[in-house]
Amino acid sequence: MLIDIHALSHGRAASIEIETEIPAHELAVSLQEIRVDSPVHFVGRLTNAGRGAIHLEGTLSAELTGLCARCLVPVTRPVVVAISEMFRSGMTTDGAESADGSYGYRGYTLDLLPPLRDNLVLALPQRLLCREDCLGLCPVCGADRNTTTCGCATAEQND
Ligand SMILES: [Zn+2]
Ligand SMILES: [Zn+2]
Repeated sequence: MLIDIHALSHGRAASIEIETEIPAHELAVSLQEIRVDSPVHFVGRLTNAGRGAIHLEGTLSAELTGLCARCLVPVTRPVVVAISEMFRSGMTTDGAESADGSYGYRGYTLDLLPPLRDNLVLALPQRLLCREDCLGLCPVCGADRNTTTCGCATAEQND
């Protein structure tokens, strides 16, 4: 996800508009059972913030895929993340965020992938639920309590 920023660096443009779709495998985001399987959409812009700093802002939209943490049915849920990150010239370009929270770039290309990936990972929920009031599976017989009433005693046996 390399962006040519010649126009910004040379003052020919105040900002560069970006609208792009990133294949899920390039981001390779997953957390436990939650994955991003479909392309991630980003709309935003790069703005010259002066002294070699480039500001990235925009909106990332993705679809999360996983299993309901309670009843294990497949769940997909959209996630929208507001992005605001700074790139600084000459810093490390390996994608690692620096101590002041900015990303590095060298020359006239800038890689959007590291900040987009980091923001998406931070936006992942701890778990997915098919719905907020999902009743989950019966711990005794495994029946889906959303669809059946299995009749098992609901109090847990401690012995
Ligand atoms: Zn569920
Ligand atoms: Zn049961």
